[in-house]
Amino acid sequence: MKKILLSFSLAVALVFHAQAQFTVPALSYGYDALEPHIDKQTMEIHHDKHHAAYVEKLNKEVSGNAVLKDKSVEQIVSHVSKYNKAVRDNAGGHYNHSLFWAVLGPDGHTLSGPLLEDINATFGSFEKFKTAFADSAKTRFGSGWAWLIVDATGKLKITSTPNQDNPLMDVVKVKGTPILALDVWEHAYYLKYQNKRPDYITAFWNVVNWDEVNKKYNEAKKKK
Ligand code: MN
Repeated sequence: MKKILLSFSLAVALVFHAQAQFTVPALSYGYDALEPHIDKQTMEIHHDKHHAAYVEKLNKEVSGNAVLKDKSVEQIVSHVSKYNKAVRDNAGGHYNHSLFWAVLGPDGHTLSGPLLEDINATFGSFEKFKTAFADSAKTRFGSGWAWLIVDATGKLKITSTPNQDNPLMDVVKVKGTPILALDVWEHAYYLKYQNKRPDYITAFWNVVNWDEVNKKYNEAKKKK
């Protein structure tokens, strides 16, 4: 009887798991792969607890909701004005963190090719771009994100959003396709950097996966 009950609960757990519309994507690198710039414990808590909580709450919002059922997170955020605050916060949280993990990677990536040329042409130089992006991240009051986006005309732009909003959302002023993201919520850096957000932003440049940013740039340009 015990065995049957156990198999039954396992089956139930599997069914519930299979039904979850959204899941936290696994990192393509180890939790400690971004050391010393972003520490292992921050990565563990950020990915396994914070991101997982957004996904869990988002799944709760979409379950039994005929409108949201079968929609991708991109479809949800791009029409987010139609939905409630919990959907906005948690779909944003899921999209933003998924992108963030993808554009991070172990130290050693460099940028070249058309994106670098576009950055130089748009912002004056790569250094000027980094300064402008860092300023956008530093001056975001409270919790939020800094972004590099490709806008509707195919132009590169730096922007920032509060909370878990992002540039795909129909409610934000500066819209576009994000190709680089930086989380400036305190949970992203407080264990290692405490109140020193600028130090975290400086360290971030060491762990940008420019190959992935390049890929997202090419995809975004192709859509124009
Ligand atoms: Mn975060």
